[in-house]
Amino acid sequence: QLHARQPIIAGNWKLNPSSIQEADGLAKGVASLLGDETCASSSAADCTEVVVFPPFPFISSVVDDLAGVGVGVGAQSIFHTAESGAYTGAVSASMVTSLGCQYVLCGHSERRTVFKDDDEAINKKVLKVIEDGMRPVLCIGETEEEYDAGLCADVCKLQLAKDLAGVSAAAMKDVVIAYEPVWAIGTGKVCPCDVAQTVHKTIRDYLAELYDRSTADAVRIQYGGSVTPESVDELMAQPDIDGCLVGGASLVAEKFARICNFV
Ligand code: PGA
Repeated sequence: QLHARQPIIAGNWKLNPSSIQEADGLAKGVASLLGDETCASSSAADCTEVVVFPPFPFISSVVDDLAGVGVGVGAQSIFHTAESGAYTGAVSASMVTSLGCQYVLCGHSERRTVFKDDDEAINKKVLKVIEDGMRPVLCIGETEEEYDAGLCADVCKLQLAKDLAGVSAAAMKDVVIAYEPVWAIGTGKVCPCDVAQTVHKTIRDYLAELYDRSTADAVRIQYGGSVTPESVDELMAQPDIDGCLVGGASLVAEKFARICNFV
């Protein structure tokens, strides 16, 4: 099946695993299972781009583990306020760039709720990531209450408008959007494929309003929320679903590799 855009599958490891030994084991497992099947150097539509997002302390080692495999590495967040200075506990965009990160997650629902990243902060992160030559994966999505109230489209549009403020049409080619309904994250409840497709189409149409049709048609939009080897094929068959952002299932190399090799 040929896709309109190059598919992108990403693994968000979150606060896992608990040691560098396990992180290396997972990365090496992914490396041996994916081997030649990905193609970081090619942007062909039939060639899936694969990225993993390990916790900060493991990034450097995971970059080494995946060297030559064609699997990219990203950071789960960055500190957007400054590049250096008196900010205890912070990690800058230039630090993760220097480790070899190509992507940074921005606006994940766990960051929005647990770490209180608001749209203003998320917008600054997106701009900082672009400025530093990396690519943001901007996560948006509604809560269960908002979904039940029929507010899904409104919530996603508002997040896009705020989080992408100041991002040029030219820069949008390096932005990935991840639609992650909060009620589907880590719950085992996958959003039905037809619903996800409708939301993805709404997002793309709104990007065409914010920018223009050709810019919108080039942006890759991932689905995230309880993606498994069982659900990935049908999701990836939807015309506006260009990839998946995978949490739990990305912690098992075999499951993640199967998701990357969706059919
Ligand atoms: P999940 O997480 O696959 O475990 O639901 C997805 C995410 O939060 O990115």
